[in-house]
Amino acid sequence: MLVIENLTKSYGQIKVLQNLNLRIESGEIYGLLGANGAGKTTTINIICDLLKADNGQITINHQPISAATKKIIGIAPQESLLYKTLTCEENLNFFAKIYGLNRETRQKQITEILTAVGLLDRAKSPVETLSGGMQRRLNIAVALVHQPKLVILDEPTTGLDIEARYEIWELIRQLKNQGITILLTTHLLDEAERLCQKIGILKNGRILAEGSLNELRALIPASEIVVVQTTQEKEAIACAKQHNFTPRRYGNELAFWLPEPLELKEIISLFEGINIDSIARQPVRLEHIYLEVTQQF
Ligand code: ATP
Repeated sequence: MLVIENLTKSYGQIKVLQNLNLRIESGEIYGLLGANGAGKTTTINIICDLLKADNGQITINHQPISAATKKIIGIAPQESLLYKTLTCEENLNFFAKIYGLNRETRQKQITEILTAVGLLDRAKSPVETLSGGMQRRLNIAVALVHQPKLVILDEPTTGLDIEARYEIWELIRQLKNQGITILLTTHLLDEAERLCQKIGILKNGRILAEGSLNELRALIPASEIVVVQTTQEKEAIACAKQHNFTPRRYGNELAFWLPEPLELKEIISLFEGINIDSIARQPVRLEHIYLEVTQQF
């Protein structure tokens, strides 16, 4: 659906995108992860033809970017485009008109979309009277008004409470079930774990790793991770190394990769003679992979 090859973009001396390559298959949810400033919004703006790349190629549905490809993309940007004093219906009608939908199609589409995003009963409510979660769902609804094939969701749940997040995750799953391809940017790694069939990790304008969660897990050759609290860190690290545990520091936490599954009592016995306050076992998660790819350990 979307193929990006060797995309570059600089602002003066700052290289924002450096030979970025990315491929999104039709019908999948692709999660683009990256720290602030990694180049996510720049990439999105180029895909949407709001910004010109210096070099590289993008094809959408096998076509280079043009007025025609713009029509098959829907975008829900980080900064809401909604008019706060207009109602849900009026906002959707406004954006539908911009896409040139006739009156009859607009009415049908607006009812269908408001139903899909769970806001039909708020059709006549001004946006400013909606909760933050409802406004986000309406922001996504705007992206759907012209029935796009590729929907770009730029941090759709940032700042929302967990219930509002669940509602948006459900909505995203419904869009996928309808065959819509989704490019999702997020800082929430559990969001990407839950939703995405493919994940790309972006740093300094380059994709450093890309694949399904299972494929990315291969980057950490561990059966699980144990987080150890101890007053004798040096001794614990030395001891763990003897058993081929790989030490890692995640924030303030001292952790070890276990090369093979072990019973808890076996793990405890390996640290015998060291004052251990607690041991917590964790599966290998996207946050560990993300840190491994983006940090220098
Ligand atoms: P965030 O998660 O904070 O939204 P991002 O990954 O979307 O970050 P971009 O907004 O694409 O990052 O920015 C990438 C880099 O390009 C940053 O260093 C930013 O300061 C720089 N940049 C973006 N737009 C401009 C501009 N118009 N002029 C100069 N530098 C810019």
